[in-house]
Amino acid sequence: MRGAKRSRGSLLIVAGALSAGLLAATGTAAAAAPRYTPGAPGAGDPYFPDMGNGGYDVGHYDIRLAFDPGTQAIDATTTILATATQDLSRFDLDFQGPLTISRLSVNGRNAAYTRSGAQELVITPPGGLRKGSEFVVSVSYAGVPQKIDDPALGVSGWVATKDGAVALNQPIGAATYYPVNDTTDDKATYTQTITVPTGLTVLANGEPGPTTTNNGRTTFRWTMNRPMASELSMLAIGDYNVTRGTTADGLPNITAIGKSIDTKPGQGKVFNETTAQVVQWESSLYGRYPFDSTGGILADVGVGYALETQSRPVYDHRTSDVDGDLLAHELGHQWFGDSLTPVHWSDIWLNEGFATYSEWLYQEKFNNIPVQKTFAKTYAGEKDWSGKVADPGRDHIFDDLVYNRGAMALQALRMKIGDQAFFQMLTQWPTVNRYGNVSTRQFIEFVERLTHRDLGSFFQTWLYQPGKPAL
Ligand SMILES: [Zn+2]
Repeated sequence: MRGAKRSRGSLLIVAGALSAGLLAATGTAAAAAPRYTPGAPGAGDPYFPDMGNGGYDVGHYDIRLAFDPGTQAIDATTTILATATQDLSRFDLDFQGPLTISRLSVNGRNAAYTRSGAQELVITPPGGLRKGSEFVVSVSYAGVPQKIDDPALGVSGWVATKDGAVALNQPIGAATYYPVNDTTDDKATYTQTITVPTGLTVLANGEPGPTTTNNGRTTFRWTMNRPMASELSMLAIGDYNVTRGTTADGLPNITAIGKSIDTKPGQGKVFNETTAQVVQWESSLYGRYPFDSTGGILADVGVGYALETQSRPVYDHRTSDVDGDLLAHELGHQWFGDSLTPVHWSDIWLNEGFATYSEWLYQEKFNNIPVQKTFAKTYAGEKDWSGKVADPGRDHIFDDLVYNRGAMALQALRMKIGDQAFFQMLTQWPTVNRYGNVSTRQFIEFVERLTHRDLGSFFQTWLYQPGKPAL
């Protein structure tokens, strides 16, 4: 994310998988009787204890949603393919707000469910689910989704706009319009099939499928075939001018600008070409681009930030012009944040420090402002040195501390270990951990292995200790 204040397959329900699940659910006579227990209602993040759940691992989300921009109502069915990681008597999904569920099934059979607290959808399948078995959960629901407006973290989730809606889900918005295991360490592939009145455009993560029109309604399909954390899923529905191109390497590049936004002549082309240029340049620094397409969406959404939604960031046009360094930030996140995602939100500097450093590198490469100069200016100008970069606290995950001091820590590391090791790290860290989950501890160990040095006190000073580090 970068905020205003700073700127400044369709679900392949293979018959086999389904029947295996049913078989497991009914149990087989030979094995010792399993002890079925409930999955945990949270995934264990200290900042967001209710987010995510335990007892299963999602492989794929199939979201089918019809949207009426007149009423802002949706009518949807989300089907989830998951694998039990324990013998499950029941399990939770995260699902919040006023949407009404009309049907819920597990492996094709109606399942009992209750809704508990702000976001727990507690599901009891007709029979227990054996550890290791695949199962399919299908939830049909309807209503008008409501965004989240967190006093500390701002707006996320389903946001109504003048001509449609935009869904931005970091950190806690996904559950406002689909049932989800809303934790960064349960990545899954996605298909989003969205039906809207003909004339409107739908954009989402990944690659577009065929578009079909029937009786005044058009259905768009978008597929993300690489693992994606739910906080990085995205939808944009409205009046958009879409530009298609490729990067120099031939990667499909789809950008869009909301028609209501006052643009300079040719801005659609410039936005598309700058995106291609930045992705190409960042690939030379960070290794092969991790997804099968790229792009960006300039939207009139009014949230006050840009967000690194996977493969295709969303830029709120009221925040900033879509200039190269902002693109470098959100596209840099495709490696740092999207392909590599922290297990816990306390480690978000691994996203924001690297994304901010991407801006600094962009300024050096394209605007002749040396990184060291940006570092010195930031170091001299930073007023607030309280707080821990690698554990800023729940309400401070989007604070300047995480961004600026995160990037400063990287530049300080570069000065300490030298350019050769530093740029090796910039390529190898995202390559070795591609599509995975990471922690600050892992990062420190990685750099120490790479350099054969004990950097414990260096990282202690820059990441864990409040106060201005001496240079
Ligand atoms: Zn960011």
